[in-house]
Amino acid sequence: MAKVVINPRIRGFICTTAHPGGCAANVQKQIAVATAGGSRNEQGKGLGNVLVVGSSAGYGLASTITALFGYGAKVLSVAFERPGTGEKAGSGGWYNLAEVHRAAKAQGKTIETIIGDAFSAPITAQAIAALQARFGKIDTFIYSLASPKRTDPVTGITHSSVLKPIGPTYTSQTIDLDTDQIKPITIAPANEDEIANTVKVMGGEDWERWIKALAEAELLAPGFRTVAYSYIGPQITYAVYRKGTIGAAKDHLEATALRLSRDLKAAFGGGAWVSVNKALVTQASSAIPVVPLYTSILYKVMKENGTHEGTIEQIVRLFAEQIGPGKTPQVDEAGRIRIDDREMRAPVQAAVDQIWQTITSENLLDVSDYKSFKQEFRTLFGFEVAGIDYTVPTEVEVPLV
Ligand code: NAD
Repeated sequence: MAKVVINPRIRGFICTTAHPGGCAANVQKQIAVATAGGSRNEQGKGLGNVLVVGSSAGYGLASTITALFGYGAKVLSVAFERPGTGEKAGSGGWYNLAEVHRAAKAQGKTIETIIGDAFSAPITAQAIAALQARFGKIDTFIYSLASPKRTDPVTGITHSSVLKPIGPTYTSQTIDLDTDQIKPITIAPANEDEIANTVKVMGGEDWERWIKALAEAELLAPGFRTVAYSYIGPQITYAVYRKGTIGAAKDHLEATALRLSRDLKAAFGGGAWVSVNKALVTQASSAIPVVPLYTSILYKVMKENGTHEGTIEQIVRLFAEQIGPGKTPQVDEAGRIRIDDREMRAPVQAAVDQIWQTITSENLLDVSDYKSFKQEFRTLFGFEVAGIDYTVPTEVEVPLV
């Protein structure tokens, strides 16, 4: 156990340190949003037992917090994070979960976390054993993994995803997160192997494996619902996102939902859905070329017209309007829940498009909300959080109580 001063160590979209106090403050803010709204609190009805895979950051963290503090659900959480040891800080996701656990315990709520590779059979087996011993059947399963690689538990082969276009070479503009300069970007198209590998990592195969394993262990409750997250986005990012390798994986995820839903409806009266969420600053989204620049402009437009939401507002809305107790998901023509509706409105996209045409390194801070992008990125790791004195040494070893 050691107290040290923790400073951000950032290169591009990677930050190798995290601040426990800053992460805790962020989680507290999310808990406050999830808890607001009175009537949902402490009901404990309808959501019952919730499993969240990818629970420590971004949309999965918001899902964990909403289920636990907004609905009084019992939550089993699975994530891949690193604890702090000695003088070395842990990962942001670890400190997020540490605060979720601490606050849950203080309020008499139940959360248990399994740390490890969710793509692996032993971690699924560990989750099943925990459910059998201390939870019982699962009512809601949120699948929110974002990872650059996955080892297939059947073949032992490790697949790596790529973020590339499919078809012609793609040329656009992107922001260099180290120099804050806008620069041209050209990405050569993916080959067939790269497309197949990206689908292996981010498609629906692992989600289906989890559901099958839970079903075989007789852990799916009547009315069982499961949701995985997807993204569509604007024309600006189409070539690199939705029509690119990651889009092929999302197509696979969405096709998996439709197929699984038929079986789940027949067997349990429930279903499987994909929810298409809004573009937001997370570790995963920061790594995608072009997307951070688009997101910075989107933030400016949506904040100005009063429709901006963060991960917690998105997920509170998802549960309140779509998948929470007594709700029937409203889906688009492809069977998807759309909480990206406000992002995709025509006037929002027209305004973003207009800025996209004229943005330069010089006017970046005026015409976009890149300032918030940078700040939110640091906030993911507990830095630049109001009220935290970063000069004070802090304990790095924070347990999941
Ligand atoms: P994130 O990087 O914030 O979180 C990823 C989570 O996955 C973390 O909890 C991490 O611990 C966990 N994880 C990664 N590899 C793991 C492994 N092997 N085993 C266990 N846990 C592992 O990501 P995010 O942006 O919240 O993305 C989650 C989902 O939401 C993805 O499907 C993503 O495509 C989707 N989505 C994101 C956005 C966005 O703008 N961020 C928009 C729409 C949809």
